[in-house]
Amino acid sequence: MNAAEILKTHQLKKTSPRVTIINALQTSQFPLSENEVKDKMGELYDRITFYRSVHTLLEAGIIHRIVADNTTVKYALNHCNEGHHHEADHVHFFCEQCKALVCLNDIKIQSYSLPSGFVKKECDVVIKGLCTSCNPQIEQ
Ligand SMILES: [Zn+2]
Ligand SMILES: [Zn+2]
Ligand SMILES: [Zn+2]
Repeated sequence: MNAAEILKTHQLKKTSPRVTIINALQTSQFPLSENEVKDKMGELYDRITFYRSVHTLLEAGIIHRIVADNTTVKYALNHCNEGHHHEADHVHFFCEQCKALVCLNDIKIQSYSLPSGFVKKECDVVIKGLCTSCNPQIEQ
């Protein structure tokens, strides 16, 4: 699905900032930060538009947000496959050395049983460590 089709599927109006954000995330192998998306948005970027568009896309389940540490917040596209099923419940890996953030789509977050009365809204799991490029035990 391209950006226009994704927006249509989610009954959202096609606006340039939304399309550009989706395109940016779609063409990237890794989640992107605001600054990285900003570079791709060029003149379309302004802070308010960016946050408004991101908010809409988050609410619609088109993208997910990953908070890796105090300074690293990134966004990634959800797999909106057939049947309109959103899968964002996967584990993320954050490399403390090169700051790379990776969606580990195959590793699902387990469900925890909460004390009664507690309601889960979201559950983020970010594993921190060294990626394969930074791991000294792996020969490059
Ligand atoms: Zn969807
Ligand atoms: Zn690394
Ligand atoms: Zn992810």
